[in-house]
Amino acid sequence: MRYTPAAPITAPLGIYIHIPFCKRKCDYCDFYSICDYTDKLMDRYLEALIVQMKDYFKYSRRKVDTIYIGGGTPSVFGGKRIEKLLRELNKLIELMPNAEVTVEANPESIDERFLKHLRSAGVNRLSMGIQSAHDDELRAIGRLHTFAEAEAAYHLCRKYIGNISVDLIYALEGQTMEIWMDSLRRICDLQPDHISCYCLKVEEGTPLDRRGCVQPEDDLQADMYLESIRYLENRGYAQYEISNFAKGGKISRHNSRYWDLSEYLGLGCAAHSFYGGKRFAFVSDIHAFIDGVLGGKPVVSEMDDMEYWNGSGEYVMLKLRTAEGIDPEQFEKRFDQSFAPYAKGLEKYVPSGLARFHNGYWQLTPEGFLVSNAILSDLLDGILNHDM
Ligand code: SF4
Repeated sequence: MRYTPAAPITAPLGIYIHIPFCKRKCDYCDFYSICDYTDKLMDRYLEALIVQMKDYFKYSRRKVDTIYIGGGTPSVFGGKRIEKLLRELNKLIELMPNAEVTVEANPESIDERFLKHLRSAGVNRLSMGIQSAHDDELRAIGRLHTFAEAEAAYHLCRKYIGNISVDLIYALEGQTMEIWMDSLRRICDLQPDHISCYCLKVEEGTPLDRRGCVQPEDDLQADMYLESIRYLENRGYAQYEISNFAKGGKISRHNSRYWDLSEYLGLGCAAHSFYGGKRFAFVSDIHAFIDGVLGGKPVVSEMDDMEYWNGSGEYVMLKLRTAEGIDPEQFEKRFDQSFAPYAKGLEKYVPSGLARFHNGYWQLTPEGFLVSNAILSDLLDGILNHDM
C-alpha cells in the first residue's frame, strides 16, 4: 500500500534546523555535534544552510507553522547568525501568523545580545537545557554551568522570550528520590511554561559509559517517574507525552508533529526529515555537508521512499506516546484500515492498569508509559503475526 499523507501537501509544514556546535561535549551525549569550530566554519555552515533552504523552496512558498532550531547548541552559533538564518528563511516560506519559532540554548551561552537578536528575528519560544538543580550532578555529567548561572540565564530569557521550556534529566548516578524531587521543585519554582523530564540513558561509547556509570535501581527509576508526574500535575503541568509536561496548554507544537506523523523538513547536517512522502537524513559530518551543499553535490545519507508503507503501525507507536492517545475513528479514516486488531492487543493491558479506553481514546496510563517499549513491540508483533 502506498503512503497517503493525512493532509494535502498545502498543509502547514514544520522545519527543523540542526546547529552542530557545542562548547564541550556533555558526558552522556551521543548527538552529532563538534567542539573544534571557528567563526569561519560557522559562517560557511550558515551559508550552506541558506543555499539548502533556497534549493528546497525554489518552486513553492510553503506555509510553515513551526520552526525549531536545535542542536548541538544553537546559542553557541550566536544570535546574529540565527537572526540572519531566520530572515533568509522568511523570504522563502509563508510563516503563519501564529507560528511557533523555537531555539534551543544552554545557560552558559545566553546573554542579552543573543536574546535581542532572537526577539527581533521573531523567536517566541526558548528551550533551555538545565538538567539538574544540583551543581555536583551538573559537574558529574559534564555540564558547563552551575544552577545559579542557569537561574540567572532563565530570568534573562524571561525578559525577552514569552514561552520557555526547561529540560531535566533524572536517574543520574547516585541520585536519590529526595535529590531528584528537589531539582524538580526548584525548576517548578521558576515557573517555565513547559518541562521535559528525560530518564538518563547511558549511550554506548559516551564518557558515562566508559566510566561505568551506575544508575539507580529500576524500581527507584520507576518511582521517580511516577512521582514526577504526580508532582508536576499538582504544580499545574499536564503530561501530554511520555517525557513532556506543559502549563496553560503550552505544548511543543513542533515536537507534536513527530508524534502525529505530520510532515517536517530537517535542514543541516545530521538532520532527519519526513517530507514529500519520504524519510531521509543528511550526512552527519559538517565538512562533507558544507562541501556537498556549496559544491552542488548530494548530501543525503539515508533515504526511504516508503513505497509500500502506509504508516499505520508507526502512527500507533508514536501516538501511544502521547497522553491523548488514539481515536480509533480518526485512525480508520486516516489509514482506511480497521483499528480492531490494535484495540484487541491493547485490551490485554487494561486489567493490569497499563492501558485504558477513555473518552473515546485508547491510551497508555503513566504505568503503561514506563513499559511502553515492551507494550508497543508486543502490539506490532501481534499485528505482523496476525495472532490478535
Ligand atoms: S550541549 Fe546538548 S548537544 Fe551539546 S553535548 Fe551537551 S547535550 Fe549534547
